[in-house]
Amino acid sequence: FDMFILAFVERLFRPTYRKDDFVLGKKLGEGAFGVVYRVSLAKKPSSKKDGDLVLKKATEYGAVEIWMNERVRRACANSCADFLYGFLETSPKKGAEYWLLWRFEGEATLSDLMLSKEFPYNVETMITGKVQDSPKGLERENRIIQTIMRQLLFALDGLHSTGIVHRDIKPQNIIFSEGSRTFKIIDLGAAADLRVGINYIPKEFLLDPRYAAPEQYIMSTQTPSAPSAPVATALSPVLWQMNLPDRFDIYSAGLIFLQMAFPALRTDSGLIQFNRQLKRCDYDLDAWRKSVEPRASLELRRGFELLDLDGGIGWELLTSMVRYKARQRTSAKAALAHPYFDREGLLVLSFMQ
Ligand code: ADP
Ligand code: MG
Repeated sequence: FDMFILAFVERLFRPTYRKDDFVLGKKLGEGAFGVVYRVSLAKKPSSKKDGDLVLKKATEYGAVEIWMNERVRRACANSCADFLYGFLETSPKKGAEYWLLWRFEGEATLSDLMLSKEFPYNVETMITGKVQDSPKGLERENRIIQTIMRQLLFALDGLHSTGIVHRDIKPQNIIFSEGSRTFKIIDLGAAADLRVGINYIPKEFLLDPRYAAPEQYIMSTQTPSAPSAPVATALSPVLWQMNLPDRFDIYSAGLIFLQMAFPALRTDSGLIQFNRQLKRCDYDLDAWRKSVEPRASLELRRGFELLDLDGGIGWELLTSMVRYKARQRTSAKAALAHPYFDREGLLVLSFMQ
């Protein structure tokens, strides 16, 4: 109960906004459930730069997204983009519209960066703050990819420890924060908070099939559906243990790891083809490797070589994330303790430090 008072007081003293306070800039995204713009304040304080905010206008799922962002803001702020404010506007013409406001974190998502020819060296420059001049090669690429995976798993561990499963982890929903020089998670529109039963009923249709784990459902279908909030609070730690819903995100993160190692899988068609092949191998990555390696292109072989560095610990981590059975997948916390991360990553030179 104290927590609610604290949250209320905190929210009372935070600046509040309304629709007319913003000047819309570039459209950043448009999905079935909302539109996202870069915006600035109409009456901006002179210290504020143009377009330093992001505004999402969301339909019916906006309420859940505001809930998730408020919770993340209090429990694991560094995992996600900096959320500022969320509000509901109702008009006779447009009905209910939820508005969500974040700090503008940066220009590029992991998807943008991964589709560049320079990947992963472009990320190295952004993280370290300067162009490195050491010779290019597998070792260096592996160190950059390791750093990205560490940051992603760190953010996921924060969410999962809070009781939130994201369910839409993909490169498009991972933003590079230019302020902290780290990757942060965005787009909590499909997320589920199991500890309080918010968005408890799986919305399978929201899931992106390219990155979704084979189970598709966050909880087994035997789980009693939609308990009232207090019941869910009492039961959910047990349900969490039983169903390990966080492992859904781990599968998606594993696919991102794979895409970073294999350039051919970074395109939609490449990933879709891979998913088909993996399904044919009953979701056994080792079997997939055996089926493609004999006739692999130079580029594909290079990917295996990268994952085979240091006695194959990269491949070992990857196969512990991408598994058919959720309970056989590693957790974000356990993955961070994996020997793949024993080597030092890139030094993050933050502006803030
Ligand atoms: P949706 O996928 O539902 O359209 P997202 O929340 O993923 O909405 O946002 C769409 C796009 O807007 C993202 O892919 C990203 O490019 C950009 N974006 C979202 N939030 C931020 C932010 N805080 N800072 C910078 N860019 C953002
Ligand atoms: Mg998105």
